[in-house]
Amino acid sequence: MITETEMKWKQDRLKKIGQYLESEKREDFIDDEKIEDLISRPSRMDKKRISGLIEKARSIKGLTPEETAYLLNIEDKDVWEELFRTARFVKNEVYGNRIVLFAPVYLSNLCVNNCLYCGFRSTNSSMVPQNLSTEEIRKEVEVLTSVGHKRLLAVYGEHPKSDIRYIVDSIRTIYSMKKGPDEIRRVNVNAAPFFIDELKELKAAGIGTYQVFQETYHKATYQKIHPGETVKNSYAWRLFSQHRAQEAGIDDVAIGALFGLYKWKFEVLGLIYHAMSMEKEFGVGSHTISFPRLEPALGTDFIKHSEHLVSDDDFRKVIAILRLAVPYTGLILTARETPEFRREAIRLGISQTDAGTRIAIGGYSQSEKVHIPEKEQFRIADTRSLEDYIYELAEDGYIPSFCTADYRCGRTGCEFMGIVKAGKIKTLCIPNAILTFKEYLLDYASARTKILGDKLIREYTEFVGKNYSDTMAKTIREYLARIGKGERDLYF
Ligand code: SAM
Ligand code: SF4
Repeated sequence: MITETEMKWKQDRLKKIGQYLESEKREDFIDDEKIEDLISRPSRMDKKRISGLIEKARSIKGLTPEETAYLLNIEDKDVWEELFRTARFVKNEVYGNRIVLFAPVYLSNLCVNNCLYCGFRSTNSSMVPQNLSTEEIRKEVEVLTSVGHKRLLAVYGEHPKSDIRYIVDSIRTIYSMKKGPDEIRRVNVNAAPFFIDELKELKAAGIGTYQVFQETYHKATYQKIHPGETVKNSYAWRLFSQHRAQEAGIDDVAIGALFGLYKWKFEVLGLIYHAMSMEKEFGVGSHTISFPRLEPALGTDFIKHSEHLVSDDDFRKVIAILRLAVPYTGLILTARETPEFRREAIRLGISQTDAGTRIAIGGYSQSEKVHIPEKEQFRIADTRSLEDYIYELAEDGYIPSFCTADYRCGRTGCEFMGIVKAGKIKTLCIPNAILTFKEYLLDYASARTKILGDKLIREYTEFVGKNYSDTMAKTIREYLARIGKGERDLYF
């Protein structure tokens, strides 16, 4: 239950949101009826149309919502196998064979909202409330950096104690910490929607990507699961979170949907329309897309009653079709998924993933416990260490990347998209992945990962020489030698 202070904060915020929405001129870009119509039309097997669409996707031209819906409604297994192969091809064409790694860090589980599926919701009396102090944040970050993490996703509930001030202070605390090679170079944020003045503060604090998940694009479902009189109840306030962020100057913004709340095909199209709306207004769509599947959470049996849980087979389709439809967007797969599924699904077009994940508040500092349900939003399935995960990636031929160069070189927003669309981002991603992976091998890796990793680095450096440029490969070798002598944070 919420206290009087929380109630007052919530009501003030609701009033301000109401006033803001009266002045919002943007048009709702989610047409529920149209999407329902698109996803309910059975697709006739038209081989010529299918190969035309596969050809279009292979040329990295993306797919329209209509084309996406047509493919989504195809039932034929062989067509899907071809789509999976195409998704892998497109991912490699755009980003190369690298996977960017990050860790989520939950700083507060206090929340005034009451989302029916979430462990942090205000009516869940099983949750032990906690807002990390500056000292506690430092402890979490020390554990994360001591194993090699360089990129964090800071996550917060919506609450007066974790308001914009708290978020900005916590980001500054994280960036201020450096001990030898241990440091966080990019802090992304997953938090509630904000006003433009608040977003400007986030920008000034040096935020990487700002993420807000719409949860579901289906309005009636949205209203049902985010009860009235909560801040999160306003669909429109949330829908334009990223537009406001772009207006405030944050040009790396990210969208997402929580799969399992409504029909999965509807959410896929919702995400595509969302990305298109931003592209139209700002010339740049979403930096990344997340598509978490609903997981069990303490104190709610919501998942048991959901009619829309997504099977593994359908989830593979979600990943592949997004890679084809919005080829320049980073796709994130999280530790909600099992190790086995992650290993397989990553091939379908994933470009980023978390590793060594703990999601309890203060969870990294309590390393003896993998799960602390009374401090967790939901339950994750992949609790392997960063080191074990990296070994698996390397075994499968991927270069793990801790690269943060784009954002620190100002390659964000339109500038980033310009480079990606010219097909050049992989010529930066692979070299930067090699350099940051070398740092990891020297500073944090086990002996077996070092052997495997160094072999991979030699192979990929040769690959750069053969496929991109000799000069680039030469510079990589020079940088690797400098890293070997103790220099850090070299990038292209
Ligand atoms: N509280 C902020 C908000 O809702 O905007 C920040 C996000 S919340 C801490 C992070 C995300 O976790 C949510 O947007 C939601 O998609 C996801 N989430 C919540 N409950 C979940 C569950 N039971 N299973 C999987 N993901 C869940
Ligand atoms: Fe709060 Fe976010 Fe959980 Fe909703 S999903 S209850 S807003 S933490």
